[in-house]
Amino acid sequence: MAFIALGANLGDARLAVEVALQALGRLPETRLRARSRLYRTAPHEATGPDFINAVARIETHLSAPALLDALQALENAAGRERPYANAPRTLDLDILLYGDARIDSPRLTVPHPRMQGRAFVLHPLADVAPERVSAADLLAVQNQPITPMENDAP
Ligand code: AMP
Repeated sequence: MAFIALGANLGDARLAVEVALQALGRLPETRLRARSRLYRTAPHEATGPDFINAVARIETHLSAPALLDALQALENAAGRERPYANAPRTLDLDILLYGDARIDSPRLTVPHPRMQGRAFVLHPLADVAPERVSAADLLAVQNQPITPMENDAP
């Protein structure tokens, strides 16, 4: 079981996240088990339009590095839709958790080091894995504006 954070804030960000959620389920040796609601959040330590964020729970037999390769391929595919050269990426995919693994390699840190303290990660993660997010975690980010989007069943 792994948890993937999805975020986009350029172009049709909602569509980019929806497409990426579907694409996760089509990765080799991987199933999409649950998806959070979509959330709209103001940029956090960034500028530009609001972000659309979500978290997916997947079951995969890919190794963590192979999963990261696959996620980066999806990011690159979404990036091809960039409206202009060197535009910021339209899609960001992060491995939040990979089972109970602790990974500290040059290209991969799991659990994701910036998971805590980010409302746009913790709220959607709580949709799909309430046991992984404490009330105290959520309290710590209550000053960060975040809006669940309507018509999105958890
Ligand atoms: P970013 O530009 O913020 O998406 O960061 C991408 C870089 O973070 C890549 O070079 C990854 O190798 C690295 N990275 C480290 N840990 C993780 C993780 N848990 N999930 C995704 N990328 C990671």
